[in-house]
Amino acid sequence: AHTEGQDGHLKRPAISFEFFPPKTEDMERNLWETINRLAPLDPKFVSVTYGAGGSTRERTHSTISRILKETPLLPAAHLTCVGASRGEIDEIVDRYHEVGVRHIVALRGDPAGGIGTPYASHPDGYQNSADLVAGIKKRHADIEVSVSAYPEKHPESRDFDADIDTLKAKVDAGATRAITQVFFDNDFYFRYLDRVRARGINIPVVPGIMPMHNFKQARNFVTRNGTTVPEWLAAKFEGLDNDAETRKLVAATVAAGQVQKLAKHGVDTFHFYTMNRADLVFAISHLLGIRAKSAQKAA
Ligand code: FAD
Repeated sequence: AHTEGQDGHLKRPAISFEFFPPKTEDMERNLWETINRLAPLDPKFVSVTYGAGGSTRERTHSTISRILKETPLLPAAHLTCVGASRGEIDEIVDRYHEVGVRHIVALRGDPAGGIGTPYASHPDGYQNSADLVAGIKKRHADIEVSVSAYPEKHPESRDFDADIDTLKAKVDAGATRAITQVFFDNDFYFRYLDRVRARGINIPVVPGIMPMHNFKQARNFVTRNGTTVPEWLAAKFEGLDNDAETRKLVAATVAAGQVQKLAKHGVDTFHFYTMNRADLVFAISHLLGIRAKSAQKAA
């Protein structure tokens, strides 16, 4: 695939943004500043995460509802199987459907005991992510379902074959888009995509991009989730622990380099883990050729 237009410029890719539900009024104000700054970039959808163990059930719902009410954006609600019966999950799904949500990111979720402990499904619950996808599609065929994908394989997967079996099961259950776990080495993504396509899975596998606002914090977080932080990347942030301004410039440069390389190889859809911050994601989108709607009109 080639995304270069006749004038040699890359075609405008499709983008989506991920937010987490705010805990405090300050965080809520900050999230809405972020949403208002990013909305003119016309994302295909914006998604709102679901706290571990369902801890943000109400906050995820209220954030999604406010997005529906106050913006033209299409929200996607994350949902996990953890700590809830089928009946409880079905109720959440019905409630989303009733207010007009037509996109759910369906996940198994992390073990209740934390990452690294064994996963035990709720006795009356959806058993795994594919089971949840099937449950959602059965209740509401008009809800679009996205799922996760792991370019470095999920830490609990025995090997890549088992990992891709899981993705296949989710697709067979009705998922029509996969969004990847964050990765920093594009080779992981391309090798994974080859494996996925070889398995006959043809849905879009959208790369999840995370600009590193705070390298040390982000490294701890992503490493726990099985993402490799390459040495060359760590080296770029060396000596910048007390220099937030330079860190920000470096983070933007790194992420922009990553998405531009992906785009050159034909990737035309990106999902940004925004961490509820607009600045880096706005700059990186700009470098991908994306302009705010009002600016496009003016031009
Ligand atoms: P799954 O696809 O369910 O795979 C998990 C593991 O289970 C794999 O090892 C797989 O091989 C195995 N497995 C799956 N099905 C079967 C089966 N039938 N039989 C045997 N083994 C099986 N977490 C949250 O709590 N809230 C969120 O909002 C959230 N959003 C996320 C968004 C994205 C894009 C990504 C990539 C992850 C997100 N997560 C979220 C994290 C996710 O919940 C964890 O990574 C979790 O450990 C796995 O759930 P999953 O649906 O991603 O994985």
